[in-house]
Amino acid sequence: MSQTLQSVRGMNDILPDEAEFWEVFEDTIRSWLKGYGYRPIRMPIVEPTPLFKRAIGEVTDIVEKEMYSFEDSLNGEQLTLRPEGTAGCVRAVIQHGLANQVPRRLYYIGQMFRHERPQKGRYRQFHQVGVESIGFAGPDIDAEMILMGARLWADLGLDGIELQINSLGQPEERAQHRAALISYFEEHAEILDEDAKRRLYTNPLRILDTKNPALQDMCAAAPKLIDYLGEASLAHFEGVQRVLRDAGVPFVINPRLVRGLDYYNLTVFEWVTDKLGAQGTVCAGGRYDGLVEQLGGKSTPACGFAMGVERLIALIKESGGEPAAPAPDVYLVHQGEAASRLAFRVAEGLRDHGIDVLLHCGGGSFKSQMKKADGSGATFAVVIGDDEAATGEAQLKYLREEGVEQRKLKVDDLADAIIGQLIDSDEEE
Ligand code: ATP
Ligand code: MG
Repeated sequence: MSQTLQSVRGMNDILPDEAEFWEVFEDTIRSWLKGYGYRPIRMPIVEPTPLFKRAIGEVTDIVEKEMYSFEDSLNGEQLTLRPEGTAGCVRAVIQHGLANQVPRRLYYIGQMFRHERPQKGRYRQFHQVGVESIGFAGPDIDAEMILMGARLWADLGLDGIELQINSLGQPEERAQHRAALISYFEEHAEILDEDAKRRLYTNPLRILDTKNPALQDMCAAAPKLIDYLGEASLAHFEGVQRVLRDAGVPFVINPRLVRGLDYYNLTVFEWVTDKLGAQGTVCAGGRYDGLVEQLGGKSTPACGFAMGVERLIALIKESGGEPAAPAPDVYLVHQGEAASRLAFRVAEGLRDHGIDVLLHCGGGSFKSQMKKADGSGATFAVVIGDDEAATGEAQLKYLREEGVEQRKLKVDDLADAIIGQLIDSDEEE
């Protein structure tokens, strides 16, 4: 026997029980986004590699070591499985001239790929809900995006997710901070790890985003970007905070929050839980005013955030969220040739009335089919034998309670009887 094939490490199948949970989650996400005027956009999963290098930055974890990049063997193009969605979204906005027209509030849900070490909450294929707003310069949209998070946690029944915010200022302010940061790191050169040494003169800010525990104390005491912000940047940051205070959304300012991607400026934020171990950030984002121009568009301010779906689903489960086990309304049992032909017509007829039907396929005795009906969680079994088929009738059996007599009905009366009973039992619950 040949060896069975397995999925790629860090890339998971999402099986039906889990996938149903995801669909309920996605329904919540879509109606939440609609409530804020966001509209969907769907971009390709594969993009030209230079897009990510330019957008995310050459000296970042993602571009240096996490991208699935390859050459298209047919035409030699350099391609990459998207590690995040903002770059592709902005590319699409530029390509289709969306920046000057509504919608300028966009979202997408889909898989992202990063070659990381798989562990709880960290996978090589994972999913993000990405939310982007293009063309807004003021702190109002940053603040609204943060408030959106607070509402979603409430909608999902989640609490205890801490909001951390920071301001990365503007490029000139970062340049001054950068000089101070380099001198500081030079003083601590002996404890820098390989990554940090390599980034010292190319992207010292990145060092602050390190996951290496040995560098945490040194990074905590490093010069803070926030002390280098000018008036305009501080006013923007204060504008965001004012809306949060007005809305009663608590936050902490984390001066070390710099985000792992180079395109951010001014406001950055993360929502962090302590219930998921080391992978506690469930949502992260910020302003990226330079990116549209950097990718070849007209200078346009923008802001966005992304949520990790796997982490949020894990958190919902951790918080006691139960997936509703969906079951069909009817399991249709049938035996005999005439009965089987009638069964197809009955099943389609019930579906015309919006009733969910699981039609038994594959034959077998009445007894074994009834067992399957019970196991399916269906509310009713509809049973058709050749006797019933001859008179255009069917047996209707209510499966939710023991000992309820089954009734014989004309097949044309089944839908009304089922709908009536479904309404009655809803009222009792
Ligand atoms: P981390 O610091 O955990 O590596 P990040 O800063 O690289 O996260 P972003 O690029 O900001 O992450 O992505 C936004 C969100 O997507 C994260 O907050 C997280 O919830 C989720 N995410 C990122 N990488 C992964 C991954 N490898 N597996 C699962 N979820 C992820
Ligand atoms: Mg990362």
